[in-house]
Amino acid sequence: MKKRRSMEKIHSMETIHSVGENHSAEKVKSAEDDLTSRLPLRDNVRNIKNLFVHVYRIDKTYYFLDCLRLFLDAVGSALTVVLAADILEMLYESRPMEEIMKAVIFLLALPTLTAMLSSALLNEFVLPGKKNIARVYNGNLAAKFLHMDYSLVNSPYVKDMQDRIDRAHSHGDGIYDLFKRFDAIAAGFFNLVCSLVVAYPMLRIIVNFRNPLMYLGIVILAALLWILTSAAVKADAAFQERFLANPRDLCPEELYRKYYSFSWYWVRRCMSGEYHFIKDIHLYGGHDMMKKYTADNARESENVMHWTSVLEKLSGRSGFLNGSVGSLLSLAGYLVSAAYALMGAFSVGNVIKFAESITKIAGGAQSMGQLYRELSLTARREASTLEMLRISDEMYKGRLPVEKRLDNQYEIEFRNVSFRYPGAKNDALKNLSLKLRIGERMAIVGMNGSGKTTMIKLLCRLYDTQEGEILLNGVDIRKFRQEEYIRLFSVVFQDFKLLSLPLGQNVASSTKMDRELAVKALGQAGLGERLEKLPEGLDTFLYQDIADDGVEISGGEAQKIAIARALYKDSPFVLLDEPTASLDPLSEYEIYSRFDSMVKDKTAVYISHRLSSCRFCDDIAVFHEGRLVQRGSHEELLLDEQGKYYELWRAQAQYYTEK
Ligand code: ADP
Repeated sequence: MKKRRSMEKIHSMETIHSVGENHSAEKVKSAEDDLTSRLPLRDNVRNIKNLFVHVYRIDKTYYFLDCLRLFLDAVGSALTVVLAADILEMLYESRPMEEIMKAVIFLLALPTLTAMLSSALLNEFVLPGKKNIARVYNGNLAAKFLHMDYSLVNSPYVKDMQDRIDRAHSHGDGIYDLFKRFDAIAAGFFNLVCSLVVAYPMLRIIVNFRNPLMYLGIVILAALLWILTSAAVKADAAFQERFLANPRDLCPEELYRKYYSFSWYWVRRCMSGEYHFIKDIHLYGGHDMMKKYTADNARESENVMHWTSVLEKLSGRSGFLNGSVGSLLSLAGYLVSAAYALMGAFSVGNVIKFAESITKIAGGAQSMGQLYRELSLTARREASTLEMLRISDEMYKGRLPVEKRLDNQYEIEFRNVSFRYPGAKNDALKNLSLKLRIGERMAIVGMNGSGKTTMIKLLCRLYDTQEGEILLNGVDIRKFRQEEYIRLFSVVFQDFKLLSLPLGQNVASSTKMDRELAVKALGQAGLGERLEKLPEGLDTFLYQDIADDGVEISGGEAQKIAIARALYKDSPFVLLDEPTASLDPLSEYEIYSRFDSMVKDKTAVYISHRLSSCRFCDDIAVFHEGRLVQRGSHEELLLDEQGKYYELWRAQAQYYTEK
């Protein structure tokens, strides 16, 4: 079985692309003017359609139920007008009291019934539906970002997209904008239809009366409707543009913070705008922890009032515009209807029905007028999110299980490996061949930019090689299940990242932790005393992005926590990639040699551009310009006075000899 598995052919290995190749550079659009320049109709329609379809897939009943309640609202309000007008007419015609009372009861009962039904739909289905859609939508984005290939997270294409998403969301209310627009449009549409139905008998009267003056009334009303509605739509657009220019100026800080508690923003906050932490999530398997937190956060943020709606209220924009246009048209409607009544065409009831219908038609037309502009803007803002969700991983995902070996007999071999970063002109690694001997220590030294970190990134499969192969016990590492393979490595990168979460969870990279083990790891890393002084011990939050009472830690303490995390993981390979670069050379040497005694029988790789830090290692590999140029012990390497090691040692010696 095992044999068959190891024979498993990597499905068209030749087709393994260089990173980001599928997401080519020409697709990378500048984030500049991305949201303010005009888009062609076709693009707008496509964006709107994509957004609608995406939301429909999340919740297949939402649109239907929302439309149903808006339809009921429109019917209810049309009924109110019709019944009120009929009652007035009955009073005017001095009809029997019984008949009038019956109509009054209808007037009270029918719209109340529709309002009750609509409110039940709203509370039971539509509002929970909105929250659920927003949670899934934002959660998916956060999850996508956390799970996609690290090589993609770091690619110019995805970085640009993240910028666009951030920019888009700093301008609007995310997916809630879609709900708002949709509600306005659907309500406008149903009101328009219901009002036309109510006004239909009156329109017939006008046509049948064959009086040119009456036609003129209709023309005047239509012209007013057109002029005022387009003026209102334009004014609204102008306001939006002003708002788009300075959203932050208009937004109170507190609301902005709350707004940021959306899951996606939470992920971004956790990493304080840096992408490196994704590397640590991948390597320490922190996905579940992030998932739990993003879900919790989305839940908490459900009741947050969204700041754009607050802004709308503050500005009184919709109230003012809709109100003034509405009253002007309503006035015109009443004047024209009154004139028709004077001409003997309309009864009292018809005057009211007609004038009210005109007002509603105006309101509906106005919403419909704003439809295209507002909806395209919303869809355009969300287009980057949808694009992000559609990105497909590029790395080959093998299915071979990694053999669990208690004796840790894992051997790694780089065989003729070359690698170039996407968009780079030169290879970061050239034709590298080396073996990591089990249970031994190896140091990799070389100047900055010589390819040391790249080697570690390839080893951990953050990137895949383009030429050559890396083998684990003789098998190409791409064939193994990624999550199992990654368990073999505890890595501390130079740009390691801790999360603004409790200390213990940082160490365990999980919400579930072995507390004893976490305390032990922190103690080994030299943080035992500090831990005792922390108010909540392992449960103390790091930093204050999330918890106001979180502790601020120094760079040195952060390094120790990162090292504790590596020790906690207890993997057979430990890789230290200059997490100490900000320390002075002697402190770095001290940490490296102390670490060496901690890792015991594991295979350890130490990286530094400072030769002194690694001289305790018997096996030192010297990198230069992406190549392995020398290998040996400190003493052996120094014997070669023409070698790179000797040159570097001489150049760096002054730092150490003085002390
Ligand atoms: P070292 O660890 O020895 O300092 P690296 O492995 O980080 O060197 O870098 C090797 C080369 O690859 C350098 O020329 C560096 O500029 C380049 N490089 C590193 N990371 C990236 C990246 N994400 N994109 C493009 N080039 C990179």
